[in-house]
Amino acid sequence: MPSKNGLATFVTQRHKVDGMRDVCIVGGGVAGLAAGIFTARAGLDTLVVDGGESILERNASLENYPGFPDGVDARRYLRMVREQATEAGCAFERGSVTAVEPVVPGEYEAGFEIATVEGAPLEARRVIAASWPDSEYLRPLDVGRKQRGSKYIIDVDTAGRTAVDGVYAAGRIAGEPHQAVVAAGHGAKVSLAAIADSEVPFYHDWVTPSGYFTGREREVPPGCEEIGDDERRERDQRARETMQEWMAEPLDETPTMHPRVADADR
Ligand SMILES: Cc1cc2nc3c(=O)[nH]c(=O)nc-3n(C[C@H](O)[C@H](O)[C@H](O)COP(=O)(O)OP(=O)(O)OC[C@H]3O[C@@H](n4cnc5c(N)ncnc54)[C@H](O)[C@@H]3O)c2cc1C
Repeated sequence: MPSKNGLATFVTQRHKVDGMRDVCIVGGGVAGLAAGIFTARAGLDTLVVDGGESILERNASLENYPGFPDGVDARRYLRMVREQATEAGCAFERGSVTAVEPVVPGEYEAGFEIATVEGAPLEARRVIAASWPDSEYLRPLDVGRKQRGSKYIIDVDTAGRTAVDGVYAAGRIAGEPHQAVVAAGHGAKVSLAAIADSEVPFYHDWVTPSGYFTGREREVPPGCEEIGDDERRERDQRARETMQEWMAEPLDETPTMHPRVADADR
């Protein structure tokens, strides 16, 4: 495994750039990555397009995220989640999305074309908007937006669906509160709507001890896995080694300063 501190800040995988994806996630921040982990684990061909950096890069020490009792460097956390999404099967593209439009005008079932500043348009059957709360790129779709201060957030139902079939929104762009764990949880929740609408066989994405289902004469549900004790111990060993490696060295990166402060310092 490569040194965690030597990983590129953004992992770019180009193993299927062309063609219609099952899901395109706009924004590789907290909500987008959490959504991608779920859709990829559910077997959906998932592309994450990201044009900049997560607002969490500005944080100095992330201390309210469950699972890190003494906090975690936010940049390290973001790298960890990106690697988890990559391992789950997400592909990544660097790109600022400028417009999302139906491939066939007026017909959402045929999928969407996602235009970026940087390259050729991408295509996906479903789009999860998880970018900053700047939803200009969704204007062509008329998803329903509402102004909140200088931002336009997207109207969603409780599952994260917009007024347009196949288009969802998660995290801050969906008006969620401004905490990382809330964004991650919302990303995961909205991905479940996209998975359900895709009609892939899926239950809960659980890993259970052997016999949990089969011991009751039940099939292991789709999306679930039963593992034996040896396998459980092996996975725990791997998890501990991975965490030790992630935490082994200080990260030589500093928080991104607010642009107004950074400009004033120049
Ligand atoms: C200074 C500061 C400190 C913070 N400290 C904490 C803290 O201690 N604890 C806590 O819980 N939360 C903290 N937060 C809040 C936390 O960062 C956010 O709640 C969280 O990052 C929101 O997740 P998100 O996925 O909605 O947005 P983001 O994480 O910002 O992700 C959005 C992503 O979309 C990308 N993007 C934007 N527009 C486009 C486009 N058009 N095309 C493609 N990609 C695009 C961006 O590059 C970004 O990667 C802090 C925020 C700030 C500013």
